[in-house]
Amino acid sequence: MTGPTRVVVVGADAAGMSSAHQALRTARRTGRELEVTVLDKGTHTSYSACGIPYWMAGDVGSGDDLVARTAGQHREAGIDLRMGVEVVSTDLEARTVTTDTGEVVEFDELVVATGAPAVVPDWALRPDGTTYDGVGTVKTLDDGAAWADRLAAAGDGAHVVIVGAGYIGVEVAEAALRQGFGVTVLTRGRGMSMLEDEMSDLVNVALCDAGAEVVLGVEVTGLVLDGDRVTGVRWDGGTREADLVVVAIGVRPATAFLEGTGIELTEGGALRPDPHGRVAEHVWSAGDCCEVRRRLDDQWVFRPLGTYANKHGRALGDSLAGGTLSFDGMVDTAITRFSVGEVHLEMARTGLSRKDAEAAGHDPVALVTEGRTASGYMPEAEPIALWVMADRTTRRLLGVQVVGGHGAGKRIDAAAAVLWAGGTVDDLAWMDLAYAPPFATAWEVLQVAARRVAERL
Ligand SMILES: Cc1cc2nc3c(=O)[nH]c(=O)nc-3n(C[C@H](O)[C@H](O)[C@H](O)COP(=O)(O)OP(=O)(O)OC[C@H]3O[C@@H](n4cnc5c(N)ncnc54)[C@H](O)[C@@H]3O)c2cc1C
Repeated sequence: MTGPTRVVVVGADAAGMSSAHQALRTARRTGRELEVTVLDKGTHTSYSACGIPYWMAGDVGSGDDLVARTAGQHREAGIDLRMGVEVVSTDLEARTVTTDTGEVVEFDELVVATGAPAVVPDWALRPDGTTYDGVGTVKTLDDGAAWADRLAAAGDGAHVVIVGAGYIGVEVAEAALRQGFGVTVLTRGRGMSMLEDEMSDLVNVALCDAGAEVVLGVEVTGLVLDGDRVTGVRWDGGTREADLVVVAIGVRPATAFLEGTGIELTEGGALRPDPHGRVAEHVWSAGDCCEVRRRLDDQWVFRPLGTYANKHGRALGDSLAGGTLSFDGMVDTAITRFSVGEVHLEMARTGLSRKDAEAAGHDPVALVTEGRTASGYMPEAEPIALWVMADRTTRRLLGVQVVGGHGAGKRIDAAAAVLWAGGTVDDLAWMDLAYAPPFATAWEVLQVAARRVAERL
């Protein structure tokens, strides 16, 4: 007689808990018996890391507001959730994982949902491996709590240096500026490099208009310290005084515990699961520890985003329990905002960059179009800039980026839908989008931008 299938999930956040709950739901439908154990080395489960910058800004009252489901709620749903347990190694032949306390846990199916912790450069670390006082990353709920405390304790006139100008760097800049702190953003390349240069320039201008100092193209080399406390940041060619230093330079998949299993990892340490989440026999994975398949050029790319972790986790859980759901890749869509006082900028992208498009063999034509988010006579009308790119020969839409005021950002969804369906720039120009004066111009600006590109092909 065989017992229930023992599923061990490593990682209890977006991907891990989506897959665990979906597996149980599907198992009830397919009549399978599952015993689901989830191991997580952290202290919190199922929380919105995405909300941490807004907690830091004071828009969200407490870390508890960011928790979607508590450990108790998961357990009530029938999941054996064990927090504070780190998996340190895996034996695929014996089908076991070993924890930091030496406990050996057996599985029939293993789900790797360990995410990607923030990269912390050596210069931020004391010899004991902890960050210097006043220095930290923005990744976990504990990080959020530490930042809420540090910002509350910082006196008037305190200066926050943010290393990294990706979306987390920009969101943290918003949080610090809104609380009246001085802000310097230092970045190796350009700000918001997920955007084309002409669009990311608009973000840099907004940061400066809101009072931030932005230093592009610099490599941070170390901290200035007073004992264990940070007092400044050094880079090749300069220094800036700092009371607090936020390190937001990226993340790296947490897959070290798979070493020696023969499971293939990318150079960056990521897994490449199929649309159902399979990576090897009896091993599944989803979320930030994975790359995702971009449908437009059939490339694997590392995009550690919650939207993919949730979707892929759900498809994984369903497939593991006998269902057929699949996560069929993405079209590289992302959005954020920068909003301080009078300055409000929404920025979003979908599709390929010009560089990606050329690498994929396209003959791309791209144009920037400026317009308004609503009819010019309405008080809601704000400036918006759109970058639209299409292929000269096939007319296929290849990419769209948006930077603008209130209501600009979510326009990206219409463009993402066209990309998802493999449509042309003409589809985008002529499809039926909603119009009324408070929301759009009679010729919606996204469609004007598409039409202008269509006319140049
Ligand atoms: C500040 C911030 C803002 C963000 N904003 C957005 C946004 O606006 N939109 C968006 O789509 N995404 C956003 N994201 C990304 C999103 O939060 C992540 O993509 C998502 O949390 C990934 O979920 P995950 O389950 O794959 O990994 P994680 O959430 O990283 O969870 C992995 C879990 O695995 C555990 N773990 C790791 N290694 C081990 C081990 N060896 N043993 C046991 N447990 C282990 C960890 O403790 C952790 O709890 C943001 C992230 C941050 C930090």
